[in-house]
Amino acid sequence: MVYWIHIARSIDRVTLHKEKCAEVPSNAIRTDFWEGGWFDYPTKERALAAMEQAGTTYQKNCPLCKP
Ligand SMILES: [Zn+2]
Repeated sequence: MVYWIHIARSIDRVTLHKEKCAEVPSNAIRTDFWEGGWFDYPTKERALAAMEQAGTTYQKNCPLCKP
């Protein structure tokens, strides 16, 4: 299972998704962590750690895929 986090700097929020979530773009491209974007991790623990590192005010779990 792969987990994705979506860092949205413009709204100061990071969201956790599961691999198969419809919201994860099929052409997700790794961009700069500090600029935001989509990032995948092999375990939920690492995804959660990355969410902490993102340093955004808001952290949420996707209501669609319920990671
Ligand atoms: Zn999702």
